[in-house]
Parts: sequence; C-alpha cells; structure tokens
Amino acid sequence: MTPTQQIYWHTTVKMPDDSKLTPLPEKVEVAILGGGYTGLSAARTLAKRGVKIAVLEANTIGWGASSRNGGMVLTGLKLGMRSVMKKYGRETARRLFQCSLQSIDTVEQIVKEENIDCGFRRYGHLLTVNKPRHFDALKEDVEFMEKEFNHTLHLLARDEQHTEIGSDIYHGALVDECSGGLNPAQYVSGLAAAAEGAGATLHARARVNRLERKEDRFVLETERGPVSAESVLVATSGYTGNVTKNLQKKVIPIGSFIIATEKLPDELAKQLIPNGRMIFDSMHYLNYFRLWDNRMIFGGRAAFFPETSKTIGRSAEILRQEMIDVYPQLKDVKIEYVWGGTLDFAFDMMTHVGETDGIYYSLGYAGHGVAMATYLGKTVAEAMIKGNIKEHPFASFSFPGAPLGLYNGFPWFLPFAGAWHKILDWLE
Ligand SMILES: Cc1cc2nc3c(=O)[nH]c(=O)nc-3n(C[C@H](O)[C@H](O)[C@H](O)COP(=O)(O)OP(=O)(O)OC[C@H]3O[C@@H](n4cnc5c(N)ncnc54)[C@H](O)[C@@H]3O)c2cc1C
Repeated sequence: MTPTQQIYWHTTVKMPDDSKLTPLPEKVEVAILGGGYTGLSAARTLAKRGVKIAVLEANTIGWGASSRNGGMVLTGLKLGMRSVMKKYGRETARRLFQCSLQSIDTVEQIVKEENIDCGFRRYGHLLTVNKPRHFDALKEDVEFMEKEFNHTLHLLARDEQHTEIGSDIYHGALVDECSGGLNPAQYVSGLAAAAEGAGATLHARARVNRLERKEDRFVLETERGPVSAESVLVATSGYTGNVTKNLQKKVIPIGSFIIATEKLPDELAKQLIPNGRMIFDSMHYLNYFRLWDNRMIFGGRAAFFPETSKTIGRSAEILRQEMIDVYPQLKDVKIEYVWGGTLDFAFDMMTHVGETDGIYYSLGYAGHGVAMATYLGKTVAEAMIKGNIKEHPFASFSFPGAPLGLYNGFPWFLPFAGAWHKILDWLE
C-alpha cells in the first residue's frame, strides 16, 4: 500500500494555521522573515526585552523544515570538529563547539520554561559505522574530542553494538550521551505560542516579496501589504528566495525525506533501538533514524532536489528499502507516512550569522538546525539589541559564495553533487 504523503508529526499536534490572520502592523522595530525555529526563537527573545516585532511567514507558522525534521537535537556541527579546527584554529573551534553544547541547553531550558510538551529528552545519539576503516577514524576522533574539547564519547565495537541497535550491518558505533530528541512539530508549535505569549505578533500568509531600504528604515512589501521596520532578520533557511538575493546565492537548498512506519509492538521497538538513541550513519549519503511513539522514523537524502510530490513519492520506496537493509525485521511493516523538507547548506558547510546594511541573517544549518537555529535565533536577537553581531562566534569567519560565482540560487549542480557523494562513499 502506498503511504500517505503527509508530515507524520503534524498528526501529533494542532499546528498553527491560517484560519485567523492577524492584521499586519504598519510599523515595527524588528521584522523577521520566516516562522521556524530561528525566527520564533529570535521573536521570543526580542519580545521578552520589549522590542516591537512581527514575524512574517510566507506559509503558516512552522511550515518549513522546523516541523518536518528528524527531531534530533545534536552536539557538534555538520563539519567535523577536526576540520573546523584545521580551518579556523583551536580557539574558534572551541568556541563553536561550546556553542553547540549551549544550543542543546537552550532547547532544554526553553522547553522547561515555556512548558512545551514535545517529548524532549537527552536520549543521546549513536553514530553507526558503515565501513571498518570508518571505525579506525572514529577511534582517533574519540581521543581528539576528549583532549581538545573535554568531551567524552564512547566507542562500541561490532560485537558490543547490540546493546544500542538491533542491526547487524554496522561495524561498530559511537555514543554521545549529550544529544537529545524531541517531536519537531510539537516543539515549533510550542515555540510559536511562547513567542506570541511574550508579545510578538506572528503573521501567516505574509510572504515578503520585496525588501527595500528607505532612509533609516526598511519597507517590506508583503502579499498582505507593507510593513515598515527599523531592522530585519532573515530566517528563511532552505527556503531563502530572491527577496534576499545575496543570501540566496550563498545557500544551497537540498531535499531530505522521511518515512514513518505503523506503530510497532513494544518488544520489537525496544529491540531495534534499546536506549531510544537518535541514530545516523557514517556515509556522506547518510540515513538517520529514531523511534517516536513506537514508530520507526527513517530519513535520508533519497533525492537531492527539494520536496515535490514526485521526489517524495520516489523517496518512499528508496527509504523503505534502506530501512530494511538496516532492519530486515521491518520487511513486512507498513509505511504509513512519507514527506520531505529542504535543508540549507552553505558552500563551506558552516552555519553563518551576520549583518549587512541593517539586514541580519542566520542560516546554513546543514541538518543541525533543531538546536542551532533555536540558539542562534536567541543569540542573534541578543546581538541585535546590543549592536555587537560582529562579536558573535558564528560571525567570526567569512561566508563564501559559490566558486567562480557559478550559482544564482537554482542548484543546477545537485545531481552532480549527489553523484560525487556516492563516489566518495564508495571510495572512502
Ligand atoms: C527532512 C529534514 C530532516 C531534518 N532533520 C534534522 C534533525 O534531525 N536535527 C537537526 O538538528 N536538524 C534537522 N533538520 C534541519 C532543521 O529542521 C533546520 O535546520 C531548521 O528547522 C531550520 O529552521 P529555520 O527556522 O531556520 O527554517 P525553517 O523552519 O525552514 O523556516 C523558514 C521559513 O521561512 C519562510 N520563508 C521563506 N521565504 C520567505 C519570505 N520571502 N517571506 C516570508 N517567509 C518566508 C518559509 O515559508 C519557512 O517556513 C532537518 C531538516 C529536514 C528538511
């Protein structure tokens, strides 16, 4: 039976909708483009400090990656810390890693303070090893992380991994106890309520079509009329469009897809992931999976282009096959839902924050945005108030565009990049 093309998480919570549209304010101090974790976390922080702010969202609040993701609240950055240190030096690497730990604390604190019912828990994450030589590299990583970052990781050899995963295909695994997990749609709905409760106004169906500087203010032409703002925060992640052309040219939108199985019997669920870890593997073309309410939530980059009913439809079968490769026990299990969403990658795979001419931005989460977007939304908002964004750790390195400028926002090279990742997976 073909699964329903619907975001499973949306069936677990009443998402903010567009049945009652809040009228747009004429003037605000800060206008935020995008109503996901970045925009809402910033809105909550600014509103708590008494700043008059409006979140302008093209679709409905939480519509983007923030209600579609795997719900993994992860330590570290997309780029391994060894590469980060090589590129930016020890001091910057340490600051950035510290931010990643603080980002999880921030999620934990917001969930607690705002009483958000989203199942947040420090489940820990498990990195599973696809090839024997990846295991040797991980041994060095464990020592490196302990020595340089005072961060403890545990390695499990192949004959020990059954304590963490009911699969035989891996060559060992690595556990990081610090990471967490949550239900992303419940979390973003709760964050929206918290921002609104603090005094921010949230506006669905308010796509910003033009952004112009007029003297000392900005005019944002939305599909529901103009809004005038002193400053602007762009929080559009993988959905960044040509309203902010300079940012669009620096962000590559990449599709990621997820299936959710029917509810599994308790015993089977417990056997698949005994300690409820958030799991991802060691390939470039990686799979990520976890349990929620006894369903296997299994994701991957089954297609590189962003979500359309065609890419989603194709992904369902690819992901089912990949899930069965990991867990042959699930071969007769029904896949009930399939959906997709868009990730945002910068050309250097780093997250970037900054400001140009009064327009602030925070994007490039590369699949690490649940914790990081929450944290950067908050800390960029704080920097906007203090006027010291240049001192933000994620503003301390440059934000590169495409090599030779060969990109105008349409990712024509994705099929080649996809093929390249497959070649790397084969070679490495
Ligand atoms: C399938 C999938 C799985 C993922 N899994 C994980 C995971 O397990 N762990 C993790 O850490 N990260 C994960 N991520 C990444 C994470 O979801 C994102 O990094 C994070 O949600 C980004 O939040 P955001 O608020 O910046 O952007 P989004 O939530 O994408 O919101 C951006 C919003 O901007 C709006 N917008 C765009 N243009 C305009 C405009 N002109 N005017 C007004 N609004 C506009 C869009 O409608 C959209 O709602 C995953 C992403 C996907 C797609």
